[in-house]
Amino acid sequence: MAEIIDGNAIAEEIKAEIVAEAGKLKEKGISPGIATLLVGDDFGSRMYRKQVERNCESVGFNYIERTLPAETTEEEVVKVVQELNDDPAVSGILPLRPFPEHISDSAVINTIRVDKDIDCFHPFNMGRLMLGEPTLTPCTPAACIELLERVGVEFEGAEIVVVGHSNIVGKPVAMLALNRNANITVSHIFTSQAGNLAKHTCGADILIVAAGKAGLVTADLVKDGAVVIDVGINRVKVLDDEGNPVTNEKGKPKTRTVGDVDFDNVKDKTRAITPVPGGVGAVTNMILLGNALTAAKMQAGLE
Ligand code: NAD
Repeated sequence: MAEIIDGNAIAEEIKAEIVAEAGKLKEKGISPGIATLLVGDDFGSRMYRKQVERNCESVGFNYIERTLPAETTEEEVVKVVQELNDDPAVSGILPLRPFPEHISDSAVINTIRVDKDIDCFHPFNMGRLMLGEPTLTPCTPAACIELLERVGVEFEGAEIVVVGHSNIVGKPVAMLALNRNANITVSHIFTSQAGNLAKHTCGADILIVAAGKAGLVTADLVKDGAVVIDVGINRVKVLDDEGNPVTNEKGKPKTRTVGDVDFDNVKDKTRAITPVPGGVGAVTNMILLGNALTAAKMQAGLE
């Protein structure tokens, strides 16, 4: 019987640890704070911002919101990042992407102080990760590792296959696992196009999927007894028994969130698997808070 890894419960455990540590820091006069930086009004970014604000509140962190109009120049945005760098109430800066087209990601990210880079996008922190000496770890990749550790996975010598090679998830999660002495294979769209995806995934003791393609990983791509971490977040139409879209009261198709793994058909083959929603996402949110806590400690000379 497969273990359905309860990301929400693990997130609650991590939250309790963060609250306990934040309490100890408060006695030393240190209170962590996260600043979000939004340029424009991208819907997804606004949703994420609200969630970060709520999460900060739930653990007693300060929350600082900086929102700039879409027409703000790159120079002005960089200046705001410098202000946040200098603000002692801000332990971590979270740039909400995508930025408007005239603002380059690297101009903003390379300006963030490396000890306030709580999403770990700065090349310095990425380099530390590569060297096996991470201080602040990228949130979603770290959430995958945290989930695997909490279900008691042995990394040393394990065959880990990562599907997806983005800078945000695939590459850094592969590096975190390699730093734990696992044997890593990274597959991606060109692996699929060459017809080789199953060849790799079927050998995986641990399969981490971050492709953004609903239903990509079917049961025939998974080894019996594997542990599967599904990072994907996809909105798909709800279908009735005949395969027709179900509509809501406004006549629009109903949608639901699914991962990249065909959960219902894959789960019984696995030793453990994360659901979507209720898996990686919930833990990712807590890793961000944990990074802000670490950043606050570093800035106070405690780490
Ligand atoms: P991305 O689009 O930057 O990268 C997708 C990767 O998947 C690429 O490496 C691509 O080559 C690979 N890929 C695409 N189609 C493939 C196929 N058919 N076969 C094999 N590989 C394929 O996406 P991303 O930012 O890495 O995010 C991936 C998914 O994870 C998305 O669904 C995203 O929403 C989700 N995500 C979740 C969290 C979370 O906290 N749960 C955080 C970040 C991203």
